[in-house]
Amino acid sequence: MATGIFFHYQQGERLRDFPEALQGILDKDHIFYFDAFYPHKLRSSFDVEPIPLEVLRAVHSSPMIKRVKETGDFAGALYSAAGTVSAAVRVWSGEITNAFVFTGYGDHHAGRDFFGGGCYFNGAAIAIHKLQRDFQAQRLAIIDTDAHHGDGTWDLFRQNRQVLYICFCPEPFQEMNQKVNIHVPIQVKDEDYLTLVERTFQRYVKNFQPEIVFWNWGYDGTAGEYGDIGLTPEFHWKLATVVKRWVHEVGQDRLVVILCGGGRRDLARLLIPKMIKILADLPVESNSRELPNIM
Ligand SMILES: [Zn+2]
Ligand SMILES: [Zn+2]
Repeated sequence: MATGIFFHYQQGERLRDFPEALQGILDKDHIFYFDAFYPHKLRSSFDVEPIPLEVLRAVHSSPMIKRVKETGDFAGALYSAAGTVSAAVRVWSGEITNAFVFTGYGDHHAGRDFFGGGCYFNGAAIAIHKLQRDFQAQRLAIIDTDAHHGDGTWDLFRQNRQVLYICFCPEPFQEMNQKVNIHVPIQVKDEDYLTLVERTFQRYVKNFQPEIVFWNWGYDGTAGEYGDIGLTPEFHWKLATVVKRWVHEVGQDRLVVILCGGGRRDLARLLIPKMIKILADLPVESNSRELPNIM
């Protein structure tokens, strides 16, 4: 059992406390810290290699890559996605069991020829392309519990039946070619969401038997966040326990968690270390005193 942490710090508020907030985690023997493009290196087990252009071009169109270059965020976007690709390869090969990827920019609004909503390159899609091409992966799953619809991911895998994509969001139910959209009410109780996840996994993931699972995890649905659907902070740890159990039940524990939406620094500091502890089977203390004020 080993957990990889893939770090890329991008300017901005939410990850300002990292990697310092991972104190007490990074020093464990079964935790490996991978660094991409980090200016103040704390400790790095291995550096993350950038993505070759031909791999990027297999997923995104050349005009889109050019448009990303024009934003000035190209390097950050590339290293964000590179963390996911690097995590996926290491999880696939068994070097680590699971991974948490700090992305500076998200994934799921990046399609073949479009991007937006803070997403430039679709790291999960690029990683999947690489696993299919270099390792002959056959059955790959993406679970998306960011508060918003993953239009980019849906677009990229529309016709690809080797990829099961389950998106939980307020859009209506839809199902085609192993793409499933599960409707989540715009205000939902933790327990109801978790029940929805259990049912969905039972119905789709169990049959599909993925060889690896990517999880687009965003905390933007937490109460007080910009995508507020009424979830509490504890919801995320419960969800992580459920997802981890499911991945174990259906396959080989291969899980890559990709940080997606969420803007608050206090929530990042509260949620992320515990998410990683759950992945790494470290004890998680439930201390409600540290819960921030949720408006
Ligand atoms: Zn959706
Ligand atoms: Zn979102």
